[in-house]
Amino acid sequence: MKSGWADRDAEAAVAHFAKAPGAKSAIDRDLALRVYTTRLLGRDPKLVLHGGGNTSLKTRMTDRFGEEVEVLRVKSSGSDMATIEPDGLPAVRLLPMRKLRALKTIGDEELVGIERANLIDPTAPNPSVEMMLHAFLPHKFIDHTHATAVLSVIDQPDGEKKCAEVFGGRLAFVPYLMPGFGLAKKAIEVFEAVKPSDGLILGNHGIVTFGETAREAYERMIELVSLAEEFIARNRKTAAAVVAPQNIAGIAQIAPLVRGACCVQDDRVEGAWRRLVLEYRDSDAVENFVNAKDLQRLSQSGLITPDHTIRTKNWPLVLPAPASGKLADFARAARERAGQFITRYHHYFAQHNERTGGIKRELDPLPRVVLVPGLGLFGLGRSKQDAVIAADIAEAWVEGVSDAEAIGRFESISEADMFDCEYWPLEQAKLGKIKELPLAGQIAAVTGAGGAIGAATARTFAAAGAEVALLDVNLSAAREQATALSATALPVECDVTDAGSVTAAFDKIAAAFGGVDIVVSNAGAAWQGRIGEVDEDVLHRSFELNFFGHQRVAQAAVKIMLAQGTGGCLLFNVSKQAVNPGPNFGPYGIPKAAALALMRQYALDYGSDGIRANAVNADRIRSGLLSADMIASRSKARGLSEKDYMSGNLLGREVTADDVAQAFLHHALALKTTADVTTVDGGNIAAAMR
Ligand SMILES: [Zn+2]
Repeated sequence: MKSGWADRDAEAAVAHFAKAPGAKSAIDRDLALRVYTTRLLGRDPKLVLHGGGNTSLKTRMTDRFGEEVEVLRVKSSGSDMATIEPDGLPAVRLLPMRKLRALKTIGDEELVGIERANLIDPTAPNPSVEMMLHAFLPHKFIDHTHATAVLSVIDQPDGEKKCAEVFGGRLAFVPYLMPGFGLAKKAIEVFEAVKPSDGLILGNHGIVTFGETAREAYERMIELVSLAEEFIARNRKTAAAVVAPQNIAGIAQIAPLVRGACCVQDDRVEGAWRRLVLEYRDSDAVENFVNAKDLQRLSQSGLITPDHTIRTKNWPLVLPAPASGKLADFARAARERAGQFITRYHHYFAQHNERTGGIKRELDPLPRVVLVPGLGLFGLGRSKQDAVIAADIAEAWVEGVSDAEAIGRFESISEADMFDCEYWPLEQAKLGKIKELPLAGQIAAVTGAGGAIGAATARTFAAAGAEVALLDVNLSAAREQATALSATALPVECDVTDAGSVTAAFDKIAAAFGGVDIVVSNAGAAWQGRIGEVDEDVLHRSFELNFFGHQRVAQAAVKIMLAQGTGGCLLFNVSKQAVNPGPNFGPYGIPKAAALALMRQYALDYGSDGIRANAVNADRIRSGLLSADMIASRSKARGLSEKDYMSGNLLGREVTADDVAQAFLHHALALKTTADVTTVDGGNIAAAMR
């Protein structure tokens, strides 16, 4: 591991922060360099992952009353070190914090209250849960990480001995205690007794380095972590050869089965499920791990550092290798083992909740990491972003455990210790107040997503909490809409008139998110011609897109929905032409009428599988089908203004793509509605359903 310190960058940071716009006070050299090295640590996943780790600086500040006071500036709880700003290091009066050392214990709420009461800026975020450790140690700069290599060395039955062997007297060893006040007191006691030169090892947890300057603390971290890396490289036993199982089914087939297994019914609403989104990883290290002979033991051996529990839970779910052609066997085994995982989690919760006074509320019992021999690992989360975080941490865990085993034997903390961290309110607070959106955990695919109605629908579903795949025959149009939507929105090239293209698109969605729950089959185009004279080829082309396109999309989606076994929702953009044909619009209206029948057939054939099918009949929406030029010419032909033409309906209101999107959202949420058509046209009796 190399130091990322560069004098030029450090000076640039000092200069930048000295005149940073919007900063609440002038930012001096020490704080600027504190931010600079915090970011250096934060950008290396081998040191710090997703809100783990923290840093601090002891300095002086003038408070609201003009008094100069000694303060601790410490990273705020759960914030990301890679992108931290000076305001992400709230300042707390140091002396009152230090006085707390006289107390034997203190409750979490009281401690947070005292910390907040001593903030220089009362609106600042909460300081890190490890703040007291920074407060009690005397050093000006303190860096703390959960470096993977260090964890491999210390997460051992003889972790303390290995610590002495690798780091000599430079780091003192603090035996495992839960993070927080107790650990902070223990750490300062050990420091005062041993007086190590560079820092501390926190047993089964991580490493602390300190220094008089930002550079000294940071470079000690890099140097000491490098010592751990070198020790692992020097002492690595030759790993037993791993034989990967052969003839393994593909990710697109397996992911929906895994996703369906890791799901629970929502007791509050019949037909509702608590679903998760998947993120797949298959690095060499992951493959070696999931194919290891003693995977059972390794997989159940526990966390490498306690704060991972809020993202991965304490253990992964381990499934059998999925043999190609034997998917039903795999599906059965996956459900059985997921069921066992959930039962074990309930038991674990009940047992430790009783031990700690019976006041905790159980979190959802679903796994957050799934290991599949022959394939790799999945991170699971209520959103794609959470799934990615779980997968990142699972990969670090795989590396930490593998390297620990390569030089000895991995040993974690006890189940009781893991529970205490998982259910520590200050840990859970790192996740923030989660506002559950109505479609959280669901995956929606929208065809024709590059167009007006498709894009509005994708936007509406994403705003309701769904992960969204945007399918379009024009990939750059889909990509443009996806980029505007979110970092996790997935653009997919899909020509619904080509069966192979549809299959490939849905494979891509299943591999990226784990499956699909809602499909909005929206792609379409209009052809015209007087039906008695129209060229048959025109009819064929329109049927390919406006009927068979819907059928191919629905068929591909149903296959995944059946594999998941958690129902689903098919939505069709049918158009009013299906029930109220316009003159010379037969080539468009007739396949749309067939699409309406198609929707009802899906509702009928798959209702018992919990799959709903509904349609929206929309009319006169500004879109690719009704362009600005067409609006201009048609309104002129009727002697109307454009506005009067567009709002020529019973309500006298123009109907927009967003109105159509709202109708699709309504259908997605209406769990007791199937085979229904919602008309979104501002009112047109001739086109009303009967
Ligand atoms: Zn820590």
